[in-house]
Parts: sequence; structure tokens; C-alpha cells
Amino acid sequence: MSDALDRYGFETLQVHAGARPDAATGARQTPIYQSTAYVFRDSEHAAALFDLKEIGFIYSRLTNPTVAVLQERIATLEGGVGAVCCSSGHAAQLLALFPLMSPGTNVVASNRLYGGTVTQFNNTIRRFNWSSKLVDFDDHDALRAAIDENTRAIFCESISNPGGYVTDIPAIAKIADVAGLPLIVDNTAATPYLCQPILMGATLVVHSTTKYLTGNGTVMGGAVVDSGAFDWSASGMYTALSEPEAAYHGLKFHETFGPFAFTLHATAIALRDLGTTMNPQAAHYTLMGIETLSLRMERHVQNAIAIAKWLERRSEVEEVTFAGLASSPYHARQKSVYPRGAGALFTIRLAGGYDACVAMVDKLELFSHVANLGDARSLVIHPASTTHRQLTDEQKTASGASPDVLRLSIGIETVDDLIADLAQALEAAHA
Ligand SMILES: *Cc1c(COP(=O)(O)O)cnc(C)c1O
Repeated sequence: MSDALDRYGFETLQVHAGARPDAATGARQTPIYQSTAYVFRDSEHAAALFDLKEIGFIYSRLTNPTVAVLQERIATLEGGVGAVCCSSGHAAQLLALFPLMSPGTNVVASNRLYGGTVTQFNNTIRRFNWSSKLVDFDDHDALRAAIDENTRAIFCESISNPGGYVTDIPAIAKIADVAGLPLIVDNTAATPYLCQPILMGATLVVHSTTKYLTGNGTVMGGAVVDSGAFDWSASGMYTALSEPEAAYHGLKFHETFGPFAFTLHATAIALRDLGTTMNPQAAHYTLMGIETLSLRMERHVQNAIAIAKWLERRSEVEEVTFAGLASSPYHARQKSVYPRGAGALFTIRLAGGYDACVAMVDKLELFSHVANLGDARSLVIHPASTTHRQLTDEQKTASGASPDVLRLSIGIETVDDLIADLAQALEAAHA
């Protein structure tokens, strides 16, 4: 779909990609196809669908027409050849790793990750006998040294949650390429409006569509987008995609489907057998959100810059980790890799420490205290006592979530109102 990006602007594609007037009714908006199953034309048609000789709808655990529109829209905006939606961002991470990993293999990941991802990678995936090695992705020697013969993927976030860190994706993609490994980028906090990792060399992009893509805090969802550019057969390491699949009459996904191998495997095997499906209602809400993605992201970024600059001048605030600030060590990288902005998610470190953080959260009125980000509303959380609670102290500090840190997700409200709310809460918390 990257050719669609050449033909139309982002703002056009966020409204139109994947959608067409409903063939049966002419409905202009994408209907919510609230149906579990789809009638086969005849027995021959049914057999062809089950053999993957023809692509079509069988059963909504695998594919659904509303979800399919969202998949095509996200794939197009990311410059990928296909996408698979699923029940949450964490499900997307599992779907991305699923065909790449086997018992005894590992994923080398950045140590600056969403807390839930650190827990998933360091603990939960061990039950599959997969493992992870978390390293500093600014230390390229350490990254290269962490890669061993059992490594099957490299994983990072574009703009990382919660620390205001921005990854040098072109540099990391080069290292992955030299190592012959796929790079998976979690693009949740940047969205394709601020960053298109596939165009910088990433193999797969994962999303928590729960966040900015939906944009209003209504539904959970995830997506995996495939660049279609990785050669799954060259190394012999990705046997789920290169070797005969027993559960599909010996079909070889890569040989048969070429650039669509990952997407079809994720649908026909991973969703079929893991069952982490997105429902059509969720797809509908996310489609509604994506239509205004660029407008919201522009406002999110504008508000975040104004607020970060204001916070930086306050005596109660010791540090603002926002790559959009000229004082950030990542500002030059942000301007070259993320020229449209550094997102709207950052942390502040309060002079009053833990107690001031807790007091400030309780004093804020417009900012909601929730475990979410990427909502139209402004949100705040104290990561050390919530989202990053399961991490060791060392991991908390590495991921930018020490006890004196608050994470802000700046919304699209009137910026002066947000600043007034922050001012009264900062003053009360340090009184
Ligand atoms: C929220 C989030 C996830 C997990 O997504 P869910 O939809 O909550 O499962 C993964 N990565 C990042 C960066 C996130 O912000």
C-alpha cells in the first residue's frame, strides 16, 4: 500500500483507505457487520476458502468485513502490505512474535518500553520458553552484542512510554538488517502521522489501537502491520513461515503468499488458534477515531510543546523529559526522525518527590488520573505506583518511571485551561 501513500495525502487516506460504499446498500459509512459467520456460495466456494485458495469471509474469529476495513486503513497509513487487528496492544505483540519464535529463542528489546511490555517480555513469554534481553538501544555495541544465534527479532517503541525517549529507528533498522533479523516497532505513542517505521526499515509495526488511533478512550484493540519486505525463507530460522504447515495441508506460507505471508499466517493460524480477535464494534470506534488522527495529533503536539515549555520554567519541576524541548538530549534526533513532533506523552520529575507526585495527581481537575494514554482528554498517572509497579527499581529508572516522576498524556483541550489546572495542582502539591 505504500503506493497509496504516494498517490494520496495522509489526511485523505485516514478518511478513505480500505473503505468503499457498501455494495449491498450504498451506505457511505462503513457498516458494523455484526455477524459471526458468512454464507458460502456453494460447497466448492467453502472448500476454496478453507484451503486459502480464495480469500473471503468464513467466521469472525478470523476475519470480519468491518475489521477488514480497519486493517486496510492502518496498513495503508503505515505503508505496509497488510495488517491484522486483534483484541489489544498486548495481543498484537504476541501475534507479531508468534510465527517468528519457537522454544529456546529470544527477542532483543529496548530497555525503554511500556511497563506492561517489560512484564510480558521478562515474565509471561517465558511460559512458551521464549525469552527477552532488554538493552539500551542508544548503545549500539551492546545491542549488537546481545544478538545471538537464538535471537529471532529486535523490538522497540518509536516514541517510548513513558520516558519521552525517541528511538533512532533508521539506525536500529540498519543493525537489524545486518544481523538478518526483523525489526518490530511499537508505534503506539507516535502513530503513523508522526512516524512511519516501515518507511525507515522496520519489518513489522505493532499498535495498541486503544490509544491515539481510537483517540477517545472507548475500546481496546491492537494491530500488527507487515512491511512485506522481509525474506522469511533466507535464514531457515522462520520455519512457521518458510516450512510446510501441517495444519494447512503442508502449505508453505512464504513460498505461496510472498509479501503477504505474515499477514495470512497471522489470520489463518494465529487468530484461528489463539483467538485474540478484534470485534466489529471496536473496529467501528477505531475507524471513527482514525478519520481525525492528523487533526488530533497536530493539536496534541502543539499543546504538549506549550505545556512542556511552561513546566520547564516552574521551580517545582526538576525535569521535563520531552524530546520536543530544545533542552532534551533527544531534540536533534526528534527533529530528524520525527519532524512532525515528539508526540504528547512525557514525564515530569517533581522537586517534592513521591509525596508531591501523589498530592498533585489528587489535586488535578481537568487531568484524569487513569491508566491510559492517547485520549482526547488530558491524563495523568504516577507510573512507579501503577503501570510500572511490577518492575524492579532498576527497571523503573531505566524506563523513566522513578518514584518522583509523573506521566502526562496531553489532550486536545484549550491549552490555557490545562496550564491553569497544572498551576493550581503544582502549587497545592508544593505548599
Ligand atoms: C498501552 C500500550 C500497550 C498495550 O496495549 P493494550 O491495548 O493496553 O493491550 C503496548 N505498548 C504501548 C506503547 C502502550 O502504550
